[in-house]
Amino acid sequence: MRVNAYAAPAAAEPLAPTTIERREVGPGDVLIRIEYAGICHSDIHTVNGDWGPQPYPLVPGHEIVGIVEQAGPGVTRHRVGDRVGVGCMVNSCGRCANCQGGDEQYCSQGMVPTYAGVDRDGTTTQGGYSTHVVVDAEYVLSVPEGLDAAAAAPLLCAGITTYAPLRRWGAGPGRKVAVVGLGGLGHMAVKIAHALGAEVTVLSQSLKKQEDGLRLGAGDYRATSDPGTFTDLAGRFDLIVNTVSADLDVNAYLGLLTVDGAMVNVGVAPSPLAVDGSLLLGGRRVLTASMIGGIALTQEMLDFCAEHGIGADVEIVSAEQINEAYQRVLASDVRYRFVIDAATFG
Ligand code: NAP
Ligand code: ZN
Repeated sequence: MRVNAYAAPAAAEPLAPTTIERREVGPGDVLIRIEYAGICHSDIHTVNGDWGPQPYPLVPGHEIVGIVEQAGPGVTRHRVGDRVGVGCMVNSCGRCANCQGGDEQYCSQGMVPTYAGVDRDGTTTQGGYSTHVVVDAEYVLSVPEGLDAAAAAPLLCAGITTYAPLRRWGAGPGRKVAVVGLGGLGHMAVKIAHALGAEVTVLSQSLKKQEDGLRLGAGDYRATSDPGTFTDLAGRFDLIVNTVSADLDVNAYLGLLTVDGAMVNVGVAPSPLAVDGSLLLGGRRVLTASMIGGIALTQEMLDFCAEHGIGADVEIVSAEQINEAYQRVLASDVRYRFVIDAATFG
């Protein structure tokens, strides 16, 4: 079936309306009528070619919420009329140890990303900036009732990407967590860490968004432009979740960790890290990173968010505002996630 979409025609060119072909609904597939698609900074990195050559024209979008319009034979997980979500991956081998262990994102054969990937039928995947998508039902999540559809869309990437390290590294009562960068991922990290019971500090470039940070659940908010922040907070945090899309002085942040504290990078910096090993050695500190999360954990995150009344703070835009929204994300001018109303794809 041919559906309306917005695609980047080439690297760093503005997105423009187009039509794309979606595959027939196969035995294990569902057809989803998309309601909302979030704009993730990764969409911008990919479209701009920051992560290497891409298969243009490229339809981004991996924060998808919509309604099941058709379910292929054999699909029991979702029914016509259900509200569902699709995140950053739409397939994996399902058999390797990583897939079997619930880490499909680390599939040994490579997960199939929601866009700019090669699906099992050999076609190039196209993302959620579109009216409809066909996805293997095993990679489709249930959006619990009570979650607003637009506010739920960013949970499919920003939500799981922050929930996974917060859970893995024990964010909870009695634990001090710092979130670096208050953007799409950062604001979800603050809400989720707070709901998990941790004591949350935001480390932002300035104090411009301080009021928001405190409202979202942070107990403290500091500007990283102030050198005093790094002396005041030395040795303080059990966990630092770094959501920044630019290069940072990682050593300055390692100094803020307790003994056995962990810093997890979820933001993707352009340059390799220059790490002062003595900061790890001197406190048995951990420096690691994390990529999205598995399907079961994503469902757990959605259920957790529904239970705690957590959605993203969204600004809904129309398809024709996508390019402007990209510029605003690049300028850190987003509070806190742009979500495209898919009805405006026509
Ligand atoms: P975003 O909304 O643009 O947020 C990034 C935040 O980083 C900004 O709001 C800003 O926060 C801070 N920042 C930006 N430029 C900075 C600079 N030069 N120096 C210091 N801080 C800066 O982006 P996002 O959608 O949350 O994505 C963040 C990063 O995570 C991207 O690199 C994206 O590709 C990556 N990502 C990774 C995964 C994964 O699986 N690991 C998943 C999704 C996204 P302040 O204004 O508060 O300083
Ligand atoms: Zn994303």
